[in-house]
Amino acid sequence: MAYQYILDGIYNEVIQIENTGKVADYIPELAKIDANKYGIALVDKHQNVFTKGDALEKFSIQSISKVITTSLIFSKIGNDLWERVGYEPSGNSFNSLVQLENENGIPRNPFINAGALVVADLMLEHFENPKAFLLDFVRELTENPNINYNENVAQSEKAFGYRNAALVNFIKSFGNIKNEPVAVLDFYYHQCSIEMSCVDLAKCFQVFANNGVIPKSDKKFLSTSKCKRMNALMQMCGFYDQAGEFTFKVGLPGKSGVGGGVVAVFPNHYTVAVWSPKLNKKGNSFYGLETLERLTTETSLSIF
Ligand code: GLU
Repeated sequence: MAYQYILDGIYNEVIQIENTGKVADYIPELAKIDANKYGIALVDKHQNVFTKGDALEKFSIQSISKVITTSLIFSKIGNDLWERVGYEPSGNSFNSLVQLENENGIPRNPFINAGALVVADLMLEHFENPKAFLLDFVRELTENPNINYNENVAQSEKAFGYRNAALVNFIKSFGNIKNEPVAVLDFYYHQCSIEMSCVDLAKCFQVFANNGVIPKSDKKFLSTSKCKRMNALMQMCGFYDQAGEFTFKVGLPGKSGVGGGVVAVFPNHYTVAVWSPKLNKKGNSFYGLETLERLTTETSLSIF
């Protein structure tokens, strides 16, 4: 497949479209980003890397980190995970509180904030030094020892994180958070602050395209069943209340973050990451969706 040719064409087409999105500013540190950044990276099944635009610049991966923490806990505790968090699409915004009361503090899925906070709690429960462990793991997946937390972003989110503080306390009132809320929030803000480029991100998600095997080391990180389930979760829950539209238009499992990153997986074929900070009303990168819809249509390579 002539991926480079295809990425060049899509980039040149998308950049002409008026971008009606807005940069997320509820985390003040994120509002400082240059809104016009736009990069794409695709990694094929032979680990060839294709790039276009700002594909090597680092940005805050935010909610995309939820896939990584969920996969770590799923690989560690298996199906016990589903006693603490569900696996159904929420149909609600990323930071919604509304479903928790009727569902006894069991969040709908691990990719909305409520679910990610429960997963963060499990990370504290099951790993001795979860921050260091998570960083080592993403460095292994990206093959990049320079991946780090951005302390300014983590602190900025902590300073204004009233909604996440409400969520974690509310869930704790149902007994579904075991650690102190401040410790859970501290871990969560750090995982969201991890910075990667599009190339790092596309490499990081290769494990989900490769049947749970880390390509570089050939290590089986997730069983076939667990890997299938991670991709199913991304398909159903990766784009908040726009997961249906992403499936409709793009047709790949994936995950977005409010930093403007989107990553998508075509099992056994490729992973692709797009970064463009202006978000649509549902909190997903405006150019990210435009780019990926064209990619899967022009290549006929989507899971549908
Ligand atoms: N750290 C962000 C928050 O909790 C993540 C949201 C996102 O990327 O969707 O608000």
